[in-house]
Order: sequence, then structure tokens, then C-alpha cells
Amino acid sequence: SSRVMLGPLVAAIDQGTSSTRFLVFNAKTAELLSHHQVEINQSFPKEGWVEEDPKEILQSVYECMERTCEKLTQLNIDISNIKAIGVTNQRETTLVWDKETGEPLYNAIVWLDLRTQSTVERLINKTPGRNKNHLKHKTGLPISTYFSAVKLRWLMDNVDEVAEAVLTHRAMFGTVDSWLIWSGGVHCTDVTNCLGDQSAALVGQMCFQEGQAKNTYGTGCFLLRNTGAKPVMSDHGLLTTVAYKLGRDKPACYALEGSVAIAGAVVRWLKDNLGIIQTSTELEKLAASVGTSYGCYFVPAFSGLYAPYWEPSARGIICGLTQFTNKSHLAFAALEAVCFQTREILDAMNQDSGIPLTQLQVDGGMTSNRLLMQLQADILCIPVVKPSMPETTALGAAMAAGAAEGVSVWSLRPEDLSEVTSEKFEPQINPEGKGHVKHCYLISILEVPICLNTDLQ
Ligand code: ADP
Repeated sequence: SSRVMLGPLVAAIDQGTSSTRFLVFNAKTAELLSHHQVEINQSFPKEGWVEEDPKEILQSVYECMERTCEKLTQLNIDISNIKAIGVTNQRETTLVWDKETGEPLYNAIVWLDLRTQSTVERLINKTPGRNKNHLKHKTGLPISTYFSAVKLRWLMDNVDEVAEAVLTHRAMFGTVDSWLIWSGGVHCTDVTNCLGDQSAALVGQMCFQEGQAKNTYGTGCFLLRNTGAKPVMSDHGLLTTVAYKLGRDKPACYALEGSVAIAGAVVRWLKDNLGIIQTSTELEKLAASVGTSYGCYFVPAFSGLYAPYWEPSARGIICGLTQFTNKSHLAFAALEAVCFQTREILDAMNQDSGIPLTQLQVDGGMTSNRLLMQLQADILCIPVVKPSMPETTALGAAMAAGAAEGVSVWSLRPEDLSEVTSEKFEPQINPEGKGHVKHCYLISILEVPICLNTDLQ
């Protein structure tokens, strides 16, 4: 059989919180040619702790790459046409390993882990006026459990192997991208965490213009809005972050970011902890069977609340229960919770920029849930637009890697942008419904979790 002639190919390793993927695209057309995906185990050794095994992560990457290459070979596609491989990953997840032995010195501490809550409180207490935004003018971030620096502090303070390796200059610190790339002998990252997953999605959604935004629904939910060449500081609880820097001599582009810790993770929780669904795809059918939460509100503040509150002591709540409430209502309330959280981020984003978004571009694993997408359009009162190829995170990373290697890639050419096909969810809620929505989201997000501060220490 003859080889298929395609021209240059570009690929991406997409190491997410819940799974690892390797994907190969045609550099000219952006067509996804082959991919493979492997789930990642998470362990919860204590309440609030979330860990992953660094070796399992590395192994899953090898497995995905090998299986994808096998599939390409079966399709008669020559794998030597892969000209560049981008790495994108779950940001802030923190690893320390020994540079002599290559062995991890502890499990990876996952971004939404809460063990640093007391470290964070100690740091905030040291600032004038106990201000969690004390470093924001430098870092763009509040002092929070989310970020790598406090996780590294915890590792140095609590894990003897790490403390000793630091003293003997053997400790290597990195996020998942650096850990993976180091297995090839180089210790590096890029200004965003090597196109970190949310930056990569912004690039993959082609949000290259100032003002363009996307929302990614994965384990968490992250809305990023391109603010161009200048970093913009938020007055409404958003982060200021580097969006991308595509080339050594190119300027950095910045973004405002609204981070929600728990989105798809609530679906995993309903599956693994409550057992009311067997697979995440079942949730849609269950929720659609009732089409309402029947007054039940679900605030999944499992890891405190991120933007716009940055309140690590908030905890989740399910309220509004009656004798009538059943698991279908709970499923619906869980989907609504994701939408309400996004609504809050969008409101903050609109207030900061003064220019309301007129539509929302979306992607991520959860966007396969059409009920969620329609609910989101209804709750935002603007259209929600989903590209027909949902793997935008990988696409962005592959595209950036290709461009860096001098491969002419599709989407950096503006004339190609119109070729991207998408699906649009229009808001269908009536004016009376809007009041209802507002009421729900105020109750579910604003008031309840903040009242539930539980400091057990
Ligand atoms: P990540 O990049 O964080 O690993 P993904 O973008 O791969 O996440 O999305 C996976 C998440 O989406 C999981 O938390 C899963 O529970 C959720 N998810 C996947 N499919 C659905 C669905 N049909 N309905 C609701 N949630 C879903």
C-alpha cells in the first residue's frame, strides 16, 4: 500500500488534569489525523489534598505517543513528517525531582489541592493590612493555594527528601511541562508554563485580537480575554497573566483570566463519590429528564472559591432540597452551577474591560454536553460558540510549536480564520426567566459559600 502524502504534520502532548492526550494535525489544514488518550489517576490522601503520580504521567505520555504513531502507520501516514511537537499542560501542578537519579521526590501536587491553606494564611497575615492582593502588582495574582510557589514552599517545609535535595543542590522544581521535557534532558518552560493549557486554548481558538475571549470547560473552567501587549490589572478579582509569546523576538501578549476550580470535577464527583452516574456522558440525559433543578442549588466549592473571591475557606453546599428532589435535579443543579460560576466571571470581565462580550467561544471536555451549552447561553444571555474540532488546547500547542520550527501553520494566517466551522447556542430564555437566573446565581454563588467559612484549625 502506498504512503499518504500530506506535507508537514504538527503534534501536541496535552497533559491535562484528568487525562493525557497526544494528537497529530495536518499543519496546512488543521485536520486532526490521529490521537490517543489515557486517563490519569488522582489520589486524595487527605481531605482537600489532590495528588498525581509523576511517573504515571510520564508513562501515559509515552503510551499516547506510541499508540498514536501506530495508528498513523496503519493509515499509511509517514510519522517522520511530524515536524514539531508542542507541550501543553495542567498549569500550577507542582513537581520536585532529584537531578542525579531522576526520581520524583514527592507526588505531583495538583493545582486545586488545598493543603497550602495555612501557608497562604500565614503569608497573608504578614502583609500590611492582611491583603491577599499585596503581590498582585508584581505577579498579577492574589496569594492563593492555587499557585505553584506556595506548593513548593509546602514541599520544602514538609517533605524531608525535598528539603535535603534543596540543601545539596539536587532538587529540580517544575510544572508538568518541565517534568516531561526534562525526561529528554532539558530543564525549561516558557513564559506561560510552555503554552499552559489555557493559553494554548486561547491560541487554538485564534483569539489573537485584543478583546477576544474563550472559556474552557475541563476539570475546572477558565475564561481568558486577550488584553494585547499590556498587562491589565483587574478590579474585580480576575488574574493578570501572560497569554502567549510566540517567538523569541515577538512581544508577550497578556490576558485577564477568570479561574473556576470546579467544573468537570463536579461531574467526576457525582460519578466517583455519589455513584449517581456511571459515566460523565450519562449526566446530560439524567439532567435533561427533568429540565430543572426544582429549586435545588449546588455550590461545588470543593477547593474553596477561586475568581472572583479567592476564598480558600469556602466549602461546597447543596441546598433547596425537598422531599421531591431526586438525583436528576441534583444533576441539573450541578450543570447550572458551572454556568453560574462562568456568569460571575463574565460579569467581572465585562466590568473590568467596560466592553461587554457579545458572544463566548468555548471548548474543553465538558462542551460535548449540549444541555450545558444551551444552559450557558441562557444564563449568560449571549450566544455560546463551540468549534467543531473541540481539541483547541492541543491545536494551539501544535500550532505554536510548528510556527517555532518554521512550519507554515494554518491559523497564523488571518485569511484562514473564516474556514473554522462551529456550532452556535443562542440564548432562549424569556425575559421573566432572566430574573430567575439572576436570583439563582446570586444565591448559589454569592451568599451561601461565603457564609460557610469553616476554619477547623
Ligand atoms: P482536563 O483538561 O482538565 O483534563 P477535559 O477538557 O479533558 O479536562 O474534560 C474532562 C472533564 O469534563 C472531566 O472532569 C469530565 O467529568 C467532564 N466531562 C466530560 N464529558 C462530559 C459530559 N458529557 N458532561 C459533563 N461533563 C463531562
